[in-house]
Amino acid sequence: MAALRRLLRASAPMYYHSQCTAQRRLFSSLASEAELRFPSLLNRSPPPVRRDPKERSIQWVFLGCPGVGKGTYASRLSQLLGVPHIATGDLVREELNSSGPLAEELRGIVNQGKLVSDEIIINILSKRLEGGEAKGESGFILDGFPRTVRQAEILEGVTDIDLVINLKLREDILVEKCLGRRICSQCGGNFNVASIEIKGENGSPGIYMAPLLPPSGCTSKLITRADDTEEVVKERLRIYNDMSLPVEEFYRRREKLLEFDLPGGIPESWPKLLHALNLNEQDAKQSAAA
Ligand SMILES: [Zn+2]
Repeated sequence: MAALRRLLRASAPMYYHSQCTAQRRLFSSLASEAELRFPSLLNRSPPPVRRDPKERSIQWVFLGCPGVGKGTYASRLSQLLGVPHIATGDLVREELNSSGPLAEELRGIVNQGKLVSDEIIINILSKRLEGGEAKGESGFILDGFPRTVRQAEILEGVTDIDLVINLKLREDILVEKCLGRRICSQCGGNFNVASIEIKGENGSPGIYMAPLLPPSGCTSKLITRADDTEEVVKERLRIYNDMSLPVEEFYRRREKLLEFDLPGGIPESWPKLLHALNLNEQDAKQSAAA
C-alpha cells in the first residue's frame, strides 16, 4: 500500500500549479484550508500543495550548520506538532543495536571503518518512516538529512518533503557560540559560557544570546572539546557551507525552502520561528506551558 502510494507520488507530483484541472479542483479545497494555517507559505508562487491540516501532515526537513541549535528547534517543533523528530545519526545508532540483515550489514561497514552509504541511510530512514506510518504517525521532522543533493534526490523518490526550514546565524556568532561550549567532565552535562551581545547598527537589530551556565557543582569540572578550536570550527563551517548550499538551492528551486535568520537565543527566536511558520499562538502557549 505504502509502496503503491509512493509510486503514485513519484509519477504524479501533486503541485497546486499543476496543469491538470481535475487535480487542481480536487486540491483547491485542501489548499484553501491550508492557507488558513500557512498563508505566507502559500503566498509565494507557485505554491506547493499541502494536505488537509486537520490530518496534521507535516513532512519537514531542518537544515542548519553545526552549532546553530537545529536539534533544539526541531525537537521543540516536533513536540508542538505531535510528530517525531528523526535525527539520522540516532537512527543509525539504533539500527546498529538491533537485529536483522540491515543491522548486520551496517555493523560490517562500521567495523571496517567505512562510510555508511546514502543507500543504507535511506534504507534505514525508509524503514523508520514506514514503521511510523503504520503506527499512525502523521508526519516527521528530519534533522541531519539530506546533507547532499544526491541524498535530496534519493529522498524525493521515497517521500514528499513539503517544507525545508533553513536556520541561519551570523558566522562570527556561530564561531563564538561553538568556542563557548563546555562539557562537565563529571556528569557529562552540556553548557555554554559564551555571552553574546551585539549592538544593532545600520538598521539591523542587535543580537543577544545568554550563556547556558552550569550549576555550581559542575563549574570547576568543565572541559572544552578538543575540536572546538577556532580553526577547526571555521573549517567545519566551511565544509558545511560547501556541501549545503547546493542542497538549499535544490529546495529553493522547488519552492520549499524557508530561510530563517535566528534573531538571538531561544527566548527571542522561538516565538518568531512559530510566527514564520504560521503556527498559532494557542499552540505556542500550550507548548511554552508544557
Ligand atoms: Zn556536572
